[in-house]
Amino acid sequence: MTTFDQLGLSPALLDAISKRGFVTPTPIQAEMIPFLLTEERDVTGLAQTGTGKTAAFGLPILQNLDLQSRSTQALILTPTRELGLQVSREIAEYGANLPGLRTTTVYGGAPFGPQIRDLKAGPHIITATPGRLKDLLDKGIADLSALRFLVLDEADQMLDMGFKDELDAILATANPSRRTLLFSATMPPEVARIAATYMKNPHEIVAGRRNQGVGTVTHFFYRVHAHDKYVALKRLIDVKSGMYAIIFCRTREGVKEVAARLSRDGYTADALHGELAQAQRDSVMARFREGNPSLLVATDVAARGLDVDNLTHVIHYDLPDEVSAYTHRSGRTGRAGKSGASLALVHMREGHRIAHIERAIGRKMEEARIPRGRDICEARLMDLLSRVKDVAVNEEAVGPYLQAVRDSLAGLDREELLKRFISVEFNRFLEQYDGAEDINPTLSKIQPNRNAAGPMVCLRVNVGRRQSVLPPHIIGMINKATHSGDIRIGRIDIDANSSDVHVDGAMATRVEQALAGYSFQGTTIRVERVADRPPAWRPKKGGKGKPRRRG
Ligand code: ADP
Ligand code: MG
Repeated sequence: MTTFDQLGLSPALLDAISKRGFVTPTPIQAEMIPFLLTEERDVTGLAQTGTGKTAAFGLPILQNLDLQSRSTQALILTPTRELGLQVSREIAEYGANLPGLRTTTVYGGAPFGPQIRDLKAGPHIITATPGRLKDLLDKGIADLSALRFLVLDEADQMLDMGFKDELDAILATANPSRRTLLFSATMPPEVARIAATYMKNPHEIVAGRRNQGVGTVTHFFYRVHAHDKYVALKRLIDVKSGMYAIIFCRTREGVKEVAARLSRDGYTADALHGELAQAQRDSVMARFREGNPSLLVATDVAARGLDVDNLTHVIHYDLPDEVSAYTHRSGRTGRAGKSGASLALVHMREGHRIAHIERAIGRKMEEARIPRGRDICEARLMDLLSRVKDVAVNEEAVGPYLQAVRDSLAGLDREELLKRFISVEFNRFLEQYDGAEDINPTLSKIQPNRNAAGPMVCLRVNVGRRQSVLPPHIIGMINKATHSGDIRIGRIDIDANSSDVHVDGAMATRVEQALAGYSFQGTTIRVERVADRPPAWRPKKGGKGKPRRRG
């Protein structure tokens, strides 16, 4: 496996990378960084979101800067202000050990004054949205005559957003002997035209198609009748405790409606769509980044540039019109070494679109069934029980109250206590789902056993970060050891010396037996069953796992 110190990067950058906590370069980083450091050619990169592109171009650019000079040597164009700020922040972190490094970000919707002042200071790197940069160039402010790197980040999105003229103008005026790097998740003709017009003999890199980047996403779809979609959505949310998800709708009306219905039903969910003013959008995004609320209903355009690393799920309430939007959406989960799930609600007339999507993502989507009322109550109960088993008891703090508790519950036997304890937590679910119908359409094609979502069991194996384990290794190990590719695998949490993997309860024994004694890079694998635990990111405050209620 490649490591960062084999890529030709300077000690100052390697130090910043390890402070950032990166251990292994992503595939696109492993390929691009040495290429950019040793060759002079332009590059096009076809890569999904979440594959680590920022470091792939950012690190070589930083290494190539002449910090003594006051000229602008690199320009990074991004579709939105949020993406621009995010790229800038990341580059500043990688450049933390480079004394005298000056960077700046310019974008629309903010006053010109401070941006003009920053540009006049002679930044080495400018990150910009095309519209604002074009305005500044027209005013004669930014100087791109000594540019050495011009990066088009998310080129397809920039063109989707109507920045064609601005891109043409900027590309035509920037120093002709610069190197141009173009990144895009898709290559529609308009992107290909930009590459053909403004790039010289570009080296092409494809990443993230077979190798889905730093994490793993499992793709599921659920067939539902169009009129059951909202009920189906609620069940998908209810069956998981601690879901942190973006729910995508095609239109802003859809977003408003779904968010309003969720709020009415006692969930806290924010809405993000184009009608909000920039300040409102910023505050919705900031709240969601904090994980509170943990559900966000959004349109594709509005969610662009919202950067969150640890989404557990992406839900496609509506399938997008364009397949590329599906990739953008689902690339938002399963990032930074974590596993995630992409759940699509597909109504009966949309079945044929699954095959298109499968072709675009280069993998199968698994058909799954909307959980029934009983499944939901059971899953949540199991979750509660494992939390009860695992909770750390602070003897000293609890001590003083124990006698009072004993006195007040004195009349209840164990059985009675258990019933009440469940009811306190569960009446909402039990009542809501009492007698709830199965909303899965009856289709002879669906094989209930293979797809039914039974309970998962958590297995712990004795290899972790220290052995450079990533989720794909664990999945590969399970597939190889069991000689099977279709065991349902859920969340994978990697610790320093061990990893927890959730597998289909019905298959757990088989997996356990197959893995025991298996060898991973010299380590003999040991397996033990452990109680499930909440994901590490889950916000501490508030009742974890309880349905979130407003007010
Ligand atoms: P892209 O631009 O391809 O969508 P980013 O560059 O934004 O992807 O990276 C996605 C996430 O992965 C970021 O949170 C980033 O910090 C993280 N990341 C990037 N490279 C690595 C790495 N080598 N190891 C672990 N995490 C990484
Ligand atoms: Mg990016």
